[in-house]
Amino acid sequence: MNGKPVLEVENLSVCYATRRGLATAVDRVSFTIYENEVVGLVGESGCGKSTMANAIMRLLGDGAYVTGGSIRVMGQDVYRLKGDALRQFRWTQMAMVFQGAMNVLNPVKTVESQIVDTLLAHRPGMSKQQARARAEELFRLVRIDPKRLQSFPHELSGGMRQRVVIAIAVALEPKFIIMDEPTTALDVIVQKSILEQIMELRDRLGFSILFISHDFNLVQEISNRVGVMYAGRLVEMSKSASDLALTPRHPYTQGLIRAIPKLTSDDEDIQGIPGSPPSASNRPSGCAFHPRCPYAKPICRTVEPGMTTVAGNLIECHLSEDELRSMTYAER
Ligand code: SF4
Repeated sequence: MNGKPVLEVENLSVCYATRRGLATAVDRVSFTIYENEVVGLVGESGCGKSTMANAIMRLLGDGAYVTGGSIRVMGQDVYRLKGDALRQFRWTQMAMVFQGAMNVLNPVKTVESQIVDTLLAHRPGMSKQQARARAEELFRLVRIDPKRLQSFPHELSGGMRQRVVIAIAVALEPKFIIMDEPTTALDVIVQKSILEQIMELRDRLGFSILFISHDFNLVQEISNRVGVMYAGRLVEMSKSASDLALTPRHPYTQGLIRAIPKLTSDDEDIQGIPGSPPSASNRPSGCAFHPRCPYAKPICRTVEPGMTTVAGNLIECHLSEDELRSMTYAER
């Protein structure tokens, strides 16, 4: 991918303090997102996707800690920012769209005042009138009639509320936006129109996106590259979303894709992955996927696999390059 790096995550580990000690939610993860790129991140619940997003935004809750590695956004190590510098950096350089707009928007304030407050907090030179004009412009950008600016969140549909949250995220023109399950609570048609809108805004405003979802089809539709997380590790990073969909190589990715019902196929043989993902406080030794992996070898139980590159895709597995190459989705 051409262009400058916008997000650089290097060897990142995040742990939670539990009564039994530290539980590792994100385990030595590294990846880079470049200018104008959309990178999707998929994996089952609890695999560490949202913890990583919160770590990048410096929004980890009490009891969660970055225990190793670094995160740079636009070259800035975000963990070196303090106080006002961090508050300014957040929203002007990096922003986040969360799942469920109702949890993010203040129910007792009009959406206009919420946008205006965000603008005034980060643009000290801006007048209230200019902020209102910018709020109107943002509403047009996300295709909502500016007359709805005086609405309270509960007076808007779910799709409109999510558009308001997107408008707030792009208000200060950050170069990097994390979208964590941004369309999960919405019906399929609204979901599709919001995805189209996100791409339109990306083309117009030129930001990069880390798009997090448990829905592989959605991620594939919107992303240039896709990462797959399992038990806190990034186990596969594809060179393109279509490559991952057509030839998933990692045994876990294959299982994830086999579990997706296909609208275009008569194939009724949809198979879930047997077993369930391990908890952060009880990761299996060796490759954490070994208890569920149909290809597990004795070494998988004791030794962590390293990264192998197969046809430009990064895969963390003990299978040889030849074995991984020969595993095509058509085999199923
Ligand atoms: Fe399966 Fe072993 Fe590869 Fe893990 S390292 S995915 S257990 S084959």
